Amino acid sequence: MTDYVLNPAPQPSIAVAGNDARFPVRRIFCVGRNYAAHAREMGHDPDREAPFFFTKPADAVVDDCATIPYPPLTENFHFEAELVVAIGEGGRDIAETDSLNHVWGYAIGNDLTRRDLQGAAKEKGRPWDWGKAFDNSAPCGPVHPVSAVGHLASGSIRLTVNGVLKQDADLNELIWSVPEVISILSRSITLAPGDLIYTGTPAGVGPLVVGDTCVVSIEGLGTLTTTITNRLG
Ligand code: MN
Repeated sequence: MTDYVLNPAPQPSIAVAGNDARFPVRRIFCVGRNYAAHAREMGHDPDREAPFFFTKPADAVVDDCATIPYPPLTENFHFEAELVVAIGEGGRDIAETDSLNHVWGYAIGNDLTRRDLQGAAKEKGRPWDWGKAFDNSAPCGPVHPVSAVGHLASGSIRLTVNGVLKQDADLNELIWSVPEVISILSRSITLAPGDLIYTGTPAGVGPLVVGDTCVVSIEGLGTLTTTITNRLG
């Protein structure tokens, strides 16, 4: 048994639907601009340029129905409804035709973003981390095992803020499909069990303010609710 000079951090994890055991989170990968209408609203041409990725720390995950503080350093804190793929079997150079065998399950995610910091980073050619990879930036609902829900290639994905519809799309609008994303990502890094992939958000992104309740729903996966409270003093 290894001795450490500090207590090791607890294993980040998310709930599993219909199971008391939890899904241990290893890393969080996120796809940028994977719905054409969202690429357009962000000022980009939605041609099929190769997908790109950014990451969040594993301990940025937050369970369903959590209340989280409005984050520091931003005046433009955005929601992004996303389908999350939970990897059960690792690998590298995974063929598209084999990709889905590596999926353990699917969940609903909210890729919370400090849009003003992301915009400033883009302008200056700096990394996106301060816009994307902050505390509590990755709410994620329970993982639904493939054995229960199968694979999700279509179905509605919606987001409301205080009951008002903000995002409304279908998973079949993904520019890069789940099998393609897994295959492409695995050529860059070796995927491992516990990795999560946030697959990108549809059009309609916008701000959250203190007191808001944000609900993401995906057909077959239920809902993910997140409430925003005061900034940390
Ligand atoms: Mn996103």
